[in-house]
Amino acid sequence: MGCGMRFLLFVWLLGGLGLDAGESRDLERARRALGSERNWGDLARYDGAVGRDFFVEAMERTYAPTADWRRWMRVEADGVWIETGEEPGGERLFLSFAGEVSARKAEVELPEAGRKGFAGLRVVLDPGHIGGRWGPVEERSFAIGDGPLLQEGDLTLAVAKRIALRLRELGAEALLARETAEPVTALRAEDFWEEAKARLGGEEGAPALAERLFYRTAEIRERARRIEAWGGADLVLAIHINASGFEDPERPALHGGNDAHVLVHGCYLESELASPTQRLELLLRLFEGYHLEEGRVARALVEAMREETGLPGYRYEDGNAFALDEEGYLWARNLLASRIYAGPVVYLEPWQANGKAVYEWAAAGDYEGLREFDGELRPSLPTVYCEFVMAGLRELYSGGE
Ligand SMILES: [Zn+2]
Repeated sequence: MGCGMRFLLFVWLLGGLGLDAGESRDLERARRALGSERNWGDLARYDGAVGRDFFVEAMERTYAPTADWRRWMRVEADGVWIETGEEPGGERLFLSFAGEVSARKAEVELPEAGRKGFAGLRVVLDPGHIGGRWGPVEERSFAIGDGPLLQEGDLTLAVAKRIALRLRELGAEALLARETAEPVTALRAEDFWEEAKARLGGEEGAPALAERLFYRTAEIRERARRIEAWGGADLVLAIHINASGFEDPERPALHGGNDAHVLVHGCYLESELASPTQRLELLLRLFEGYHLEEGRVARALVEAMREETGLPGYRYEDGNAFALDEEGYLWARNLLASRIYAGPVVYLEPWQANGKAVYEWAAAGDYEGLREFDGELRPSLPTVYCEFVMAGLRELYSGGE
């Protein structure tokens, strides 16, 4: 087909969608920002990389403990058939298992295996959310009555900066996935307006969706590119502070609860396994053995978090997460950041920011020394957060010294 012909066809197709050229440019840019750069060919290098038991255990215990993953991955004696399409029974590819069929494990060479000490350790700190003037947009900012404004994104950045400093003093390399209270992505909600309308088939609900595509999906995808450009990480720590939904969002009030938990990547739902992109992203993590390192790091951080905060674990009620321990301190959950960052990702969720015991203290942000809350002198929340993270990491990398 000649060039002009192709152009005419293009214009005609756009006409059919009711789009002009500017709108279609917006759509293309939005989809590039939101989409995955992975393709099925990326799996070829893992042919023969892991044993059969390694694969099956990873799927059953971590990645899909509650879903029927065998619809998409048919395990045979010497390898696994992986569905690559939207429906089972379409295109698929075969990856062979390592060695004999016997129960050999962990044939993947783990980047962390046998590592000792902090020198040269590469850690990414990902301060959850954006904070600053974006706090209200991303709904991670609140005040109770005339009380102070609490912004999760500002607290997480203060925590990440403290940890990065400490790690560098110990000889590790540290990257902040976000360094200021501004988005890492150059795009904004308006850049996702056409995409939001296209997804919803109209304008209803489009402004809210466009905002979420900006501050969540595009922002996290851009942080993932940043981590990859840095060369990937031995460990990514996603820094968050938990909160509960307000009973009446119009009049937010504090609740009496408080808890803490840690997340590793996993627990894909049926609908998530049905997405070819998510299925591929899962497999890339599995073959890298990230779940082993995530489990090892998460267990050490659970210990340190429990010791420092004295808090009970948490309960997810909606089936999106799977408890990996009895007390609800360690969970597997499929989140975009932990699915696409280049390295093992452990998510930290200590405290309930809108709990009575935490709000005033958390809203005070970072400070040096001690301040009084509830008749008790306390270091800042970022100080305490940094302390238990470093205690957990010392346990892992320098035998607790
Ligand atoms: Zn958060």
